[in-house]
Amino acid sequence: MESIPYGRQNITAADIEAVVAVLRSDFLTQGPTVPDFERAVADRVHARHAVAVNSATSALHAACLAMGLGAGDIIWTSPISFVASANCGLYCGARVDFVDIDRETFNLCPEALARKLAQAERKSALPKIVVVVHMAGQPCNLQAIHTLSRRYGFRIIEDASHAIGASYRGNAIGNCEFSDATVFSFHPVKIITTGEGGMVLTNDPELARKAALFRSHGVTRDKRQMIREPDGPWYYEQLELGFNYRMTDIQAALGLSQLRRLDDSVEARHRLAKRYAELLAGLPVSVPVQRSDVRSAFHLYVIRLQLDRIDRSRREVFEAMRADGIGVNVHYIPIYAQPYYERMDIQRADFPQSEAYYREAISLPMFPTLSSVQQDRVAASLRSALIS
Ligand SMILES: *Cc1c(COP(=O)(O)O)cnc(C)c1O
Repeated sequence: MESIPYGRQNITAADIEAVVAVLRSDFLTQGPTVPDFERAVADRVHARHAVAVNSATSALHAACLAMGLGAGDIIWTSPISFVASANCGLYCGARVDFVDIDRETFNLCPEALARKLAQAERKSALPKIVVVVHMAGQPCNLQAIHTLSRRYGFRIIEDASHAIGASYRGNAIGNCEFSDATVFSFHPVKIITTGEGGMVLTNDPELARKAALFRSHGVTRDKRQMIREPDGPWYYEQLELGFNYRMTDIQAALGLSQLRRLDDSVEARHRLAKRYAELLAGLPVSVPVQRSDVRSAFHLYVIRLQLDRIDRSRREVFEAMRADGIGVNVHYIPIYAQPYYERMDIQRADFPQSEAYYREAISLPMFPTLSSVQQDRVAASLRSALIS
């Protein structure tokens, strides 16, 4: 039987036409389609500024640089995320530390954050930036984290790689009402794709200007930003040590076309989530809980095994499902447990919720074109893996 992946892009004829049109045009990169895509995403999520880049990893790096993160600074994030949420701090020479997750949402826990901030204040070791991750597409408790940011003076970056199309208290994730910047990913497993790609959203014109500089070598052709008088019409100026993190117009065309289906796509994910909850009712697993003040984008569907009710390990269940051709996955290994991070002397015992999560979590296939027949197969495989 054909195997079912955990996530899959959805490319339509309209997407292909949009890409081909750019291929036939004058600009493959640095043309008009990138700013069109930036405007469309900014308008969609009600942010003032958008800077498109070649990945969410680059977007996180550019956002940290734009906030002036550097050596001697500290950045915190959630351990239950992709390594990129933390690596952005290391790229800037900052020290990285983690805040434990909430048991129900798998998001950075505001109470754990409050406790850690109080301790850090006593040691004069407060973070400059906290990267919050909307895990699986479910928005964090942004209000509580924002209140703490006011008291302790840190900046907030939302890693919304899973969460374009999600909303918090009725407003779109990406509007940056409770943060300094929000980052989206357009990798093919995410909600909408550009092949590879990412974006920084912000309402702060200075952050947007700096992120755009870091995207393209730190070079500007904008007279208003220049330090010297141009010595000719060819003149450009390097103001920062930037990178080539640019998105191509080919990618932006795909993104613009995909963006038109964002609502349908999130709607389809919600239908699948509802159906999973019905299919899995009564099994010794916990299904995702959606808080009442948010709407998840359901990038992932993460279940937790109730290990005290079964005599199988997570690994056994996982391997049995893989043997059935079900592309289950684990999101994520706690970042502090990676060999690269182990040398930073982080105590696993400080993160009991992340440790418990990592013992129990399995991501089931979740993508808009997942059929009912396929979903039934996933549920049947899980049932037999748990019970037989
Ligand atoms: C996918 C992902 C990233 C990295 O995105 P890229 O676009 O592949 O660089 C960062 N953070 C989280 C939470 C992700 O899921």
